[in-house]
Amino acid sequence: MIFGAHQSIAGGVFKAVERGKQAGCDTIQMFNKSSNQWRAKPLGTSDIDQFLAAIDTTGVTVATSHTSYLINIASPEDALYEKSLAALKVEMERCGVLEIPNLVMHPGAHVGSGEEAGLGRIAENINRLFDQLEGNSVTLLLESTAGQGSVLGSSFEQLAWIIEKVEDKDHIGVCLDTCHIFAAGYAITEPKEYGATMKKFNEIVGLEQLKIIHMNDSKKEFGSRKDRHEHIGKGEIGLEAFRNFVNDKRLENVPMILETPKAEDLAEDIENLKVLRGLVE
Ligand SMILES: [Zn+2]
Ligand SMILES: [Zn+2]
Repeated sequence: MIFGAHQSIAGGVFKAVERGKQAGCDTIQMFNKSSNQWRAKPLGTSDIDQFLAAIDTTGVTVATSHTSYLINIASPEDALYEKSLAALKVEMERCGVLEIPNLVMHPGAHVGSGEEAGLGRIAENINRLFDQLEGNSVTLLLESTAGQGSVLGSSFEQLAWIIEKVEDKDHIGVCLDTCHIFAAGYAITEPKEYGATMKKFNEIVGLEQLKIIHMNDSKKEFGSRKDRHEHIGKGEIGLEAFRNFVNDKRLENVPMILETPKAEDLAEDIENLKVLRGLVE
């Protein structure tokens, strides 16, 4: 199995790779720019060279990037979804330049315009995105959400609906987040429950669409529709659910990435990775 954690790019994009090495990651997830600003400082040649060299020397791969939290391509406001689309295009291009194969995005929130309108806008904007990109090598991954507020993407049906409408099928996929699916009401703790949930996912979305799994326990209870990450085995999901994931042979090539809280010394990542690897039978 391939294990990793989200790492900070503070100090430069190459720093995320070095932090990954320090934490004992096989692979990492990272932002490609500041996650809470629209602005993106252009990547210089030295940023790119340093980044690719860090991957070479550490042996740590970069499985995926994650988009800024500001992006909402489901927004009913023209100004906001146009701004979001432009920002998303920049992020796709930055991932291309950095040779990062995937970019995880939250599908978006309909903010009162309704589920159908929101989903339609997401699919339409993804098609517009791919039309605007030239020589794109990056796969856009829709992340399953907890379904808080008007956030879309909390059901496998919604994810499948969007994918069905996307024309460029080679560059669209899914990222499942254990905390989010649990909060959205998909049981994963008992082996039987896990089996049923994965069967459902395979039938509705298709396991071949699954490119990344976010491994997070949940501070909030099953079906709460709240998105609060907890350390592995310390939350409402519990250790047994993670045993199901790490021993599922179908997921051998799907990077499993932590997004759990951590301090600068990355001690929590080191511990959580030890816990996950210890569950492999
Ligand atoms: Zn996310
Ligand atoms: Zn996540």
